[in-house]
Amino acid sequence: MSHDDCLFCKIIAGEIPCKKVYESNSVLAFEDISPQMPVHVLVIPKTHYDSLADSVPPAVLGDVFSAAAHVAEMKGLTKRGFRVIANTNDDAQQTVHHLHVHVLGGAPMNSGNP
Ligand code: IMP
Repeated sequence: MSHDDCLFCKIIAGEIPCKKVYESNSVLAFEDISPQMPVHVLVIPKTHYDSLADSVPPAVLGDVFSAAAHVAEMKGLTKRGFRVIANTNDDAQQTVHHLHVHVLGGAPMNSGNP
């Protein structure tokens, strides 16, 4: 289901451009418009869920995390390491309310918040 007022649904529909990294039947991965790390890719399901707290089916989560690992491999991060983050609702400062994970890497990260 697509939400008319959702930015990421518009990206999936091709109404807003993105720098695509990977796509499958169920997920899309694209470069974050404001990268916080040398590698910063967003992985989203093509079906709309507001967040990780939106009763997301396990199969969808599996597809998203498998794609995150695949993107990390594509970007050469597997051996060095990478971080996968799903900001969820207000305290985590989720700004786009379509489930997404950030795949971050390419430089050492701190062990604290995040
Ligand atoms: P959040 O803060 O976890 O919700 O992350 C939303 C992310 O979406 C942020 O890192 C933004 O930089 C990113 N973002 C917002 N608009 C776009 C866009 O049009 N293309 C790609 N990334 C975007």
